[in-house]
Amino acid sequence: MTASELRKLLQPAAEAERLDLYARADAVRRARVGEEVHLRGLVEVSNYCSRQCHYCGIRADHREVTRYRMRSDEVLQCAQLAVKLGYGTLVLQAGEDPGLTRDAVAHLIRRLKSETPLAVTLSLGERALAELKAWRDAGADRYLLRFETSNEELYRRIHPPLRADAPDRFTLLGMLRDLGYEVGSGVMIGVPGQTFDDAARDLERCRELDLDMIGIGPYLPHPATPLGQRPPSAAPDQVPNSEEMTYLMLAGVRLACPATNIPATTALATLNAEGGRTSGLQRGANVIMPNLTPMEYRRCYEIYPGKRCVSEPPEEYDARLRAQLAALGRPAGCGQGASPNWQQRRGIAAAQ
Ligand code: SAH
Repeated sequence: MTASELRKLLQPAAEAERLDLYARADAVRRARVGEEVHLRGLVEVSNYCSRQCHYCGIRADHREVTRYRMRSDEVLQCAQLAVKLGYGTLVLQAGEDPGLTRDAVAHLIRRLKSETPLAVTLSLGERALAELKAWRDAGADRYLLRFETSNEELYRRIHPPLRADAPDRFTLLGMLRDLGYEVGSGVMIGVPGQTFDDAARDLERCRELDLDMIGIGPYLPHPATPLGQRPPSAAPDQVPNSEEMTYLMLAGVRLACPATNIPATTALATLNAEGGRTSGLQRGANVIMPNLTPMEYRRCYEIYPGKRCVSEPPEEYDARLRAQLAALGRPAGCGQGASPNWQQRRGIAAAQ
């Protein structure tokens, strides 16, 4: 698909065009990553954060948040629950927390890898090369780091750097790839200031980065953040942060990156509690990340308000999800569920 084709599909002229796009994305999904829906248990291991991202509810300056950092044995209990529920991957997500030290995280990864059959995905923000390397050496399989928007000026505005000389997220994504991680990234949809040209460029950027996983979800304003409190006045070409726009981007990213693992995100489920995730699965997505964070910590990890999973215990959500998958005729994935994109990449590297 050319850049102008990608741009065009984000603003379908008629309903038939939109439905045709969804059908194409669903067919490409089926052909390239199959019918299985991979389930990843998400554990929000710490909400301490040293950053000031203008969109995020756990930014350092948000003083109302009760901060927590889970102990290793608590994370291991979540891992056991993931195994019991039949999930193949554990995702450890957190704010950018220096208290999650290189050695402590490496030790935790080693225990997870030796005591469970799970793939381990990290989503711990922008960390030093030595840390990323130590965690990979300890056995971490994947790393998620969204570039958030391809519009550099907008990115700088909403994501102030910690230090002027810190590597940007694109540089970090390259490092992660070189370290042998399966690499995930993605964007928010409808951040104030994001235009349709930006969104088309986001899709191109995902393709250029040759990503193995792509997470995209609607931007949801948080009232305790600068962007939530003082959004800039909307440009004429502003992308809406709507459910429909999220489906268009999901479908677009599936066509642009056919062999990639793409989740139907919690942010999408927050816009439509009943049908968000299942509709996502019919418009390009092939992954769901059920939340396994202990209930007492969940309300403290409100990166945006009304987060869908705050009140639903893991076993209950799992039962509901399995019924939804059965109704869709989609089997839950078995095993770790690495993306075909990565398997292909690794196969090529091995052959050389
Ligand atoms: N500290 C890690 C994990 C952040 S949470 C990191 O920065 O990579 C994971 C994702 O949640 C972010 O990458 C961002 O895309 C998304 N997010 C944060 N605030 C949001 C908001 N207000 N609305 C929607 N998505 C948000």
